[in-house]
Amino acid sequence: MGFPQKAIEAKDLWIAVLLKKASIQRNYTQLHFNRALQQEGEASFEYELAMPYGMVYFEARISHLPDNKQILGIVRDITERHKSSEIIRQHAYFDTLTLLPNRFLALDRLSQMLNEAERNNECAAVFFIDLDDFKKVNDSLGHEVGDKLLIAAANRLNSAIRKEDTVGRLGGDEFIVLIRDIKSDHDASIIADALLNIFREPLRIDGRELILTLSIGISMYPQNGDNASELLRNSDIAMYQAKALGRNAYSFFTKEMNVTMLRRFEIEEQMHGALERNEFEVYYQPLLDVKTKKIIGAEALLRWHNHSLGHITPDEFIPIAEHTGLIIPIGQFVIQQALSFLTYWQQVTQNKYVMAVNLSPSQFRDKELFNFVKNILRDENLTANSLELEITEGVLMTGQSYIAETLMQFDLLGVKLSMDDFGTGYSSLSYLRQYAFDVLKIDRSFINGITLNDEDRNLVKAAIAMAHSLGLAVVAEGVEMHGQLLLLEELGCDFAQGFYFSKPVPAEQFITLSKNYKLDEP
Ligand code: C2E
Ligand code: CA
Ligand code: CA
Repeated sequence: MGFPQKAIEAKDLWIAVLLKKASIQRNYTQLHFNRALQQEGEASFEYELAMPYGMVYFEARISHLPDNKQILGIVRDITERHKSSEIIRQHAYFDTLTLLPNRFLALDRLSQMLNEAERNNECAAVFFIDLDDFKKVNDSLGHEVGDKLLIAAANRLNSAIRKEDTVGRLGGDEFIVLIRDIKSDHDASIIADALLNIFREPLRIDGRELILTLSIGISMYPQNGDNASELLRNSDIAMYQAKALGRNAYSFFTKEMNVTMLRRFEIEEQMHGALERNEFEVYYQPLLDVKTKKIIGAEALLRWHNHSLGHITPDEFIPIAEHTGLIIPIGQFVIQQALSFLTYWQQVTQNKYVMAVNLSPSQFRDKELFNFVKNILRDENLTANSLELEITEGVLMTGQSYIAETLMQFDLLGVKLSMDDFGTGYSSLSYLRQYAFDVLKIDRSFINGITLNDEDRNLVKAAIAMAHSLGLAVVAEGVEMHGQLLLLEELGCDFAQGFYFSKPVPAEQFITLSKNYKLDEP
């Protein structure tokens, strides 16, 4: 192949310039040139220059135009593009906050680890780690502190494992640790203990000392699964068990856990779309005046009937709805149903009643809660004091300011606030003083015992006296027997609710019940 003299000169000159400036090998450039010349077309390649201010990247396109006996070279600075693709790669594989491998990369490494373990006939362990009460920290101290805490936790986890093992962030406050070539469950428990141990030392964030604890779920290869998704799922299940043990603990996966968790997963799965499929229904249980034995209102209690799971009790599905966030639309459904039912009930009976609706802590995360309720009250033409919101101490213990603000807004609007399940938690007086409660609901576990033992009777008596001194009305829940009602009347309890009067029933049945209500007293 002969080159016209001019072209060869141009080519050599160009290579010389490149090589002088670039710290690249001559062969590399030469190779691309030759290729372009042979192909009689275009060849492109990238090269990098180490400049005093950092790396610079170029792309060279070389075209051989044989007809015109020319070589055309275009050199472009692609440093920016290079940076972006590096950023994209980082984004694709690494968590931007903690710089740990992200879920995608961590799961890829898990698969690699399993391949290797299979080849070498070794065991391996997957640790699913969740930071305890991280949400509380995040909500009370703010996201910035939360982020710093995540970074500090990631560093600490990283410092505790061997080089050949992996720590990844699965998302939120969930991490994964992959331990290769492990000899036994015992070895895994030593590592788990070590991880719990290194968190005993407080983390220092912005001059504050914060104690963070972990819940760890462990699944072992090959006993607990032979693929990445199974091992991940089983370690997740075991982590839930560690939480149930009271946190700051680890737990190995067992087959029995699968049964409880499968149900949990199934409930979670079925709950998506349950509202749209009209599977929820609000039942009503009457609230009675202890003195007059007349119905003064009702508590709205949610029921769920699902085609594949049957009836699921609220005690089982409400916590799951809170966990998934579905409690927000479901809770709105309850409020909407209960208040339009109240309007209807008042119209057909020409009476005024109060409707009690339960609110979960996570419903307060919905910034629209207050406006949502206010608009429905307006649309249904109801006075604010015909709605009573039942909350538990758990709501207040989180100490979040937006909860206090929302409660204050409700109070100013005239909505009544009721402290539910009193006696089961801390039963702190300060909450009753601090927030504008109107009603105290004594938990049914105490009502149960009032005719049987002195302790329960004394507690109920004290609670009534205290509530009255603070200007609160008292509701006794779970009244099942005439004797309990008599005693409650004697103790000065204001209202009562329970199977003795009626179980919670569907709307239509409730209307019939309330129209002809007459308590059969023995
Ligand atoms: P809760 O607020 O303490 O509701 C009272 C529970 O006691 C209801 O159970 C009711 O059926 C039951 N009950 C009433 N009288 C008696 C009685 O005399 N004896 C006995 N043994 N039980 C009685 P349910 O309907 O299964 O609800 C359980 C819990 O689920 C409720 O406890 C409440 O915390 C929650 N829940 C129910 N509906 C909703 C809702 O719409 N939203 C939210 N956030 N939570 C709800
Ligand atoms: Ca309640
Ligand atoms: Ca209750």
